[in-house]
Amino acid sequence: MSRFYNFSAGPAMLPQAVMEQIQAELLDWHQVGASVMELSHRSKEFKSVAEHTEQLIREILAVPKHYKVLFVHGGGQGQFTSVPMHFLRPNHYAVYLQTGAWSEIAATEAQRYGQVRVALDAKNNGYTAVAPQNSWQDFSDAEYLYYVDNETIHGLEFNNVPETGNIPLVCDMSSNIMSRPIDIEKFGIIFACAQKNLGPAGMSVVIIHEDLVERETAHIVPSFLNYKKLADKGSMVNTPTTFSWYVIGLVCEWIKKHGGVEKMEKNAKARSQLLYDFIDHSEFYINEVHPENRSRMNIPFSLADESLNQKFLEESKAAGLISLKGHRLLGGMRASMYNSMPLEGAKALRDFMQEFVKKYG
Ligand SMILES: *Cc1c(COP(=O)(O)O)cnc(C)c1O
Repeated sequence: MSRFYNFSAGPAMLPQAVMEQIQAELLDWHQVGASVMELSHRSKEFKSVAEHTEQLIREILAVPKHYKVLFVHGGGQGQFTSVPMHFLRPNHYAVYLQTGAWSEIAATEAQRYGQVRVALDAKNNGYTAVAPQNSWQDFSDAEYLYYVDNETIHGLEFNNVPETGNIPLVCDMSSNIMSRPIDIEKFGIIFACAQKNLGPAGMSVVIIHEDLVERETAHIVPSFLNYKKLADKGSMVNTPTTFSWYVIGLVCEWIKKHGGVEKMEKNAKARSQLLYDFIDHSEFYINEVHPENRSRMNIPFSLADESLNQKFLEESKAAGLISLKGHRLLGGMRASMYNSMPLEGAKALRDFMQEFVKKYG
């Protein structure tokens, strides 16, 4: 058996040590004679898993007491729906920063529930840069301001947190959560689907200010997505995706053991810088995102000669580097490197890219 360097954008690779622990515990978890995925979510054994995972998230991200941590069905897009269903009242509007495909989809979804305004539209520059806040349209009486911290498809990442005063700030951190320290107090809601940086697909982790949990909502939100009900019932309105919950806990243990988010940030910088430096010094590979907004997690790039795309994919796969095909919206290539990608993986990719130029450039 051999594991390749896997550059998938999501579901993405998990740390090898975590995969090994899952394997070791799969049939008999902690001597209960059953797998964790075979335990009742109401059992005291699973409760300990659930609470431990929440505790680790709180510790790693320094989540203050007056924020709830919820484990919710429906992945990232579940929250695209849930946020406006909860907070977009009739005759009010929400503001979206459109900086890539994911914020565009989220804004479109929100329009089904109410009025949406776009205060920043980076589509004008092909989603290659985030204009400074003083150029955004006014949003002073919006229900909330929504943005995507890291645009997974376009490879665009915010390098600061928008200032919104009293307007609740809602952030999709699906593809860069736990890759750097964050000041939770600046946010009303942070959510992240699990399958990029946290664990298996299907679940979103939602970190939400308790004032928002308590807020009366004008819309009829399905119970299993309702923040208040989820908060009151320990995220168990119905059966949660218990296996994801368990694996997220293992990934959090791994992050804690390996230096926490400070170290994850250093690793992310080192990995991505290595590739960007190489791309920028080459005539063969292109990344058009403004250096200040380049993602540390997802690096889309194209070959100057696109007729070589297929060869690139075939030969990289043969070299043990998989899932480099770009998103269908952009074409070309994309290297996604989340917390579990070792620096050696980035080096192996860079070396391969170098060899490929020598051969075909
Ligand atoms: C992957 C991703 C999503 C979508 O997640 P699903 O779980 O597939 O709904 C949403 N936002 C961002 C930023 C993502 O990277």
